[in-house]
Parts: sequence; C-alpha cells; structure tokens
Amino acid sequence: MRHLRPLGERLRPLASRYGEGMLLTAKCLALGAAIMGFCVAATACSLLDGEGTASSPPPAQTAKPTPIAQPPATPTAPAASKEPAVSPSPFPSPAGEVPDSVREATLVAVGDIMVHSPQLPGYYNPKTKKYDFKPWFKQVKPLLRQGDWVVGNLETPIAGADLKYTGYPRFNAPTELSNALKDAGFQVLSTANNHTLDRGFAGIVRTLANLRKLGLVPVGTAANADDAARLVIEERNGIKLGFLSYTYGTNGIRVSEDKAFAVNLIDRDAIAADIGRLKEAGADAVAVSMHFGIEYQRMPSDEQRRIARETLEDGADLILGSHPHVVQPYETLVVDDPSAPGGKRRGLVVYSMGNFVSNQTGSWKNVGVIMSVKLVKRTENGITRTSWSDVKATPTWVHIWGPDAKRHYTVIPMQQELDERNDPNLTNKDYAVMASLLPGITDHLRRKADQKGEG
Ligand SMILES: [Zn+2]
Repeated sequence: MRHLRPLGERLRPLASRYGEGMLLTAKCLALGAAIMGFCVAATACSLLDGEGTASSPPPAQTAKPTPIAQPPATPTAPAASKEPAVSPSPFPSPAGEVPDSVREATLVAVGDIMVHSPQLPGYYNPKTKKYDFKPWFKQVKPLLRQGDWVVGNLETPIAGADLKYTGYPRFNAPTELSNALKDAGFQVLSTANNHTLDRGFAGIVRTLANLRKLGLVPVGTAANADDAARLVIEERNGIKLGFLSYTYGTNGIRVSEDKAFAVNLIDRDAIAADIGRLKEAGADAVAVSMHFGIEYQRMPSDEQRRIARETLEDGADLILGSHPHVVQPYETLVVDDPSAPGGKRRGLVVYSMGNFVSNQTGSWKNVGVIMSVKLVKRTENGITRTSWSDVKATPTWVHIWGPDAKRHYTVIPMQQELDERNDPNLTNKDYAVMASLLPGITDHLRRKADQKGEG
C-alpha cells in the first residue's frame, strides 16, 4: 500500500508547538478519503453528517491549501461505525473577524507499550552493543503515521542501562525504545501509570530527558514543579489539542512529599483545574490519558465509568484509557455543558486500548486496538467550535515467534494482514489464530460499555 507520509510529518516535525502559522488545509477531503477506503467504517456517517464535515462547501481560505496525503486503505473494525458522526465539543471563542473555515486533524492512540524481559534478547546486537526495537512496529508504522497526533501509554521507565534493564515487576526498558517509538510515529507519550516509579524519581527524570531528546512529548510526569505546571498543547493543522495524563496509583511506590509533582494521580479537582488551564491557554479540545480500571477485565468497572463521565463533565473531550491489558469497549457519553448548543456535549471514552506490545499472551492480552478520531475545528459567523467524528478502531495482535532465548515480536494489524497475507513470519496457524481473534474483538468493541460480566 503504501504510504505517503502524513501531512503532520511533512509539514511540521514534532517540535511544532505554539505559534505555527495557521495551516488551513484542504485535508477535509473526507469524500476522497472515503473513496480511498480510509473512512471505511465511518463513510456513511461522514457523508450524512448534518454538520457536513465531508460535504460542506469549501471554506474561505486564508492560507495556501496544503497538498493532501491520501491515506491508504485502513483495515477498520466495523465496530467503529457505531459512533455518531459529530459530537460537538464546543469551545466558543470570540473569533471576531476570523473568516469561516474548517480545519481537520486526526488523533491516533494506542494502549500499553510494555517491555517484558523476554522481549530484549532478540533485539540486541552484540556487535554494536545496542538494541533495536523498530521491527516491533514495522507493520503498524504506516497506520500510526496517518495520525497528526499519535499517542501511546509508555508503561516503563526508560532510565538508562546503569539502572539495569528489567521487565516485570519493576520495569526499565533500554533507551533504544524511545528511538523505536519515535521511528514508529509516536509523538505524545503518556508516562503516568503504575510503573512510573519503577526506578524511583530518578527514573522519571531520566525517562523525560530521553523522550524529549528525540522530540517526543511526555505527559503526566514531571522532573520539577515548573515542569509539572507546563501545559502540553500540540497544534496540528490549526487545531490545538491539549493533553493530560493521570494514573490511579504507582504500585505502592511513593515519592517524597516535596516531589508530589512527579506523577499525576487521578484526582477530580486537579483534573478539572488542569483542563481549565488548558482551555484558558487556547486548547480547542482536550484529550485525557487515564490509567485506570482492573487488570484483565474486559468490561470497564463502575469506577472507570464514573471517572470518565466526571472528566468529560469537567471539560475533556476524549478519554484515552489504559491499564487493564485487554481491550474494553468504547462509547460516547453525553454530558451537560451550558456553553454547548442545546446544553449538551458529547465525549468519547475509550476505556482501555489493551496491550499494544508486550509479552503477555492468552485471554485477549495479546490483542490491542489502534483508535483513530478526527477533530474538526469549524469557524462560522465568527464562532469557532471543535468537534470530533470518524472514530475508527483497528484491532492489532502481537505476533510472538522464535526460540524462547530469542523471541521476536511484531504488532500486526489483523484485518490488513488477513487481507494481504504477506508476512513471511506468519504461519497458517497464525493466520487461523487471527481469523478467530478478529471477529471476537470486533464483537467485543461493539458491546455496550455498561454491560456487566466477562465474555
Ligand atoms: Zn498499568
């Protein structure tokens, strides 16, 4: 297939933050994208969308239209189409003289990025004395790189060899992991999770430095109080998306009280305040990575649902959940918002995206999902609102093969690989496994999040 580099990559290497020129792109060619199969699941929604994300007349343009990277066909779980086309999440802004315009950008998110010790030996080169984990992401890289923002949950410190590389229960992954994540297309990494403190406060500081050195943007942990107060707002195609990240806890490991800034814990008041600060700073929408839930439970807990709803009520638009290590269904929640048209606002809650990469197998632990959602920022008659639409869920499977002493790992987008069948490392048995997992996870994604029980 493949693959023009995405707009975000060509136009603005990640360092882009505030102050970029507004890029009024014609990327809103959802119709064209639909023809290319990009919007397979969401095509109908897009084209029928009353707000016309796909079919609205071309906006008045204030900047040179940007050439479009036509996205390749994306294997997409039909489950994705259950979402409504547009869920307004308005932040009216006094736009004044701002001409009418439509801007679009796509957020891509994945779940837990884990590095268990069996994942290491197969990727160590004794000659260079370095690791290279890029092969893990070879197959999903083109999908990830379709995102204008690409975010994942980094569930391990990257704290340096001198602090010893280990897997479970206290992780520390080789520094080269950050290079592989960068290469795969990740941009924002949620670092607040129960393994944040596996190498103590020093591990946080070093992890942040290692990520930032490559232009990756960590969110959820901090090296000092100023760092903790820093707002993460990433602008793509003229849309400013604010990022936050919180965890339920840190496996009982604590930092001293004078370092309480080091990791964001789930706390409604703090979250509400952080969302408020992002909005004041001009964020058009807010995505909150939430590390919560019960491990290996395939349905969200009552607590997850409560936290998600409260966070949306407090102004978030997207909840990106992780921690259970299995995929949980996602849903749209409608919350009261006096500033929204009709007094209601929709938020997208992805309760758990499962393991993106790990050594865990069985009981759905080797299945993850790449979520994709389009943000649309529309200015009409001087009012600017940002909404989201076109939710897509692309199930993945971690293929593990080779001798135990040197195991290999590849994250496989299942539908695409079942269609193409061109990975020489996959056996007929592997294809059969995927053929059985894919309908199961697709059905699961369709389930209502308030259903109880396993299954
Ligand atoms: Zn976790």
